Amino acid sequence: MTTAMHPLLSRLPPVRGRLIPDRPLAELTWLRVGGPADVLFQPADAEDLAAFLAALPGDIPVLPVGVFSNMIVRDGGIEGVVIRLGRAFAGIEVLPGHRLRAGAAALDARVAEAAAAAGIAGLEFLRTIPGTIGGAVRMNAGCYGRYVADVLVEATVIDRAGPRRLPAAALGLGYRSSALPPEAVVVEAVLQGRPDAPAAIAARMAEALARRAATQPVGARSCGSTFRNPAGRSSTGLPDDDHALKAWRLIDQAGCRGLRLGGAQISEMHANFLINTGSATAAELEALGEEVRKRVLKSSGIRLEWEVARVGRITGPAPSARPSDPAPHQPAGAPDRAEGGGQEEGGREDGGSGGA
Ligand SMILES: Cc1cc2nc3c(=O)[nH]c(=O)nc-3n(C[C@H](O)[C@H](O)[C@H](O)COP(=O)(O)OP(=O)(O)OC[C@H]3O[C@@H](n4cnc5c(N)ncnc54)[C@H](O)[C@@H]3O)c2cc1C
Repeated sequence: MTTAMHPLLSRLPPVRGRLIPDRPLAELTWLRVGGPADVLFQPADAEDLAAFLAALPGDIPVLPVGVFSNMIVRDGGIEGVVIRLGRAFAGIEVLPGHRLRAGAAALDARVAEAAAAAGIAGLEFLRTIPGTIGGAVRMNAGCYGRYVADVLVEATVIDRAGPRRLPAAALGLGYRSSALPPEAVVVEAVLQGRPDAPAAIAARMAEALARRAATQPVGARSCGSTFRNPAGRSSTGLPDDDHALKAWRLIDQAGCRGLRLGGAQISEMHANFLINTGSATAAELEALGEEVRKRVLKSSGIRLEWEVARVGRITGPAPSARPSDPAPHQPAGAPDRAEGGGQEEGGREDGGSGGA
């Protein structure tokens, strides 16, 4: 190889898959921001991954990723080895008893579609979540009152100690969280459904997609919900859903809907969506999020917690820390909002939270 070698490469164990030094990540992420991975590892298969992790020097960090639909990769890039599972981990297999085995790289939507085609109901909620099964298990992804925890039977995980098959109860799944150590790589999951007619399942998925499109900026560069709901659960989408402690409502009440910082913006359509309007840096996105947290704390006394994972090296002072930062401080009477927004209230079903 004639390309400049990242110094880390010489310390990595041999693999059958691919080790790519200084791999730019922005193009792989939903937000289209962030610096490179020191090294991106795409294992050939589970054995390759296990052997690599077992032989990896302990001081080299690893970070498993899916399709970065819940991650802000900082502009300075990610230290160590980023593990991205490819096609070898994307299989979907229908099992007896209305179960399905999915590789961690399989997209949630494909898994839901495969389940529907096989007459397996209960996984419809996965159809509208844009991540992979690995990310879904790690985050206990869910919407409209259904979570991975409701359908997960077991997951296979590989870390430096080797492969392990863990029953769902051992994963400590909570609201958008799990007890999995950050370096543990989910490689496979078995999900439990129930029988139903494929057409009925497909109709429910179509309904969920339409509901999303009506309440969320699904075409924008975002990571879905930015902050955890202080209520401790996602929206159910049901009429009795309590909006009082929804992050979007607190953000709205703090006057942050539509707020901008550089190319970063709080969505006009959904106040808990942080979007890249085209030219944002990771630093701008993160700083705008921090500004929202400050304003929400001031207006409601509630400290919002990030749901989106922020990973990588911070380059220079964060924009929020710059005293001369002009935005989002707005001159009186000239709110820094996009056209036509700000009037939406939470009265409509889930107030633009769309279950995320
Ligand atoms: C438009 C939009 C709507 C969304 N709506 C929802 C929603 O309704 N409900 C919801 O829960 N989420 C939602 N999300 C967020 C996101 O899609 C989920 O959190 C998803 O589960 C993340 O999966 P991913 O593969 O992209 O993971 P990534 O974003 O790549 O990673 C997320 C986390 O999972 C870890 N991870 C990823 N893959 C693995 C693996 N194989 N093994 C171990 N750890 C891993 C990462 O280290 C990281 O901590 C939405 C995002 C967008 C952009």
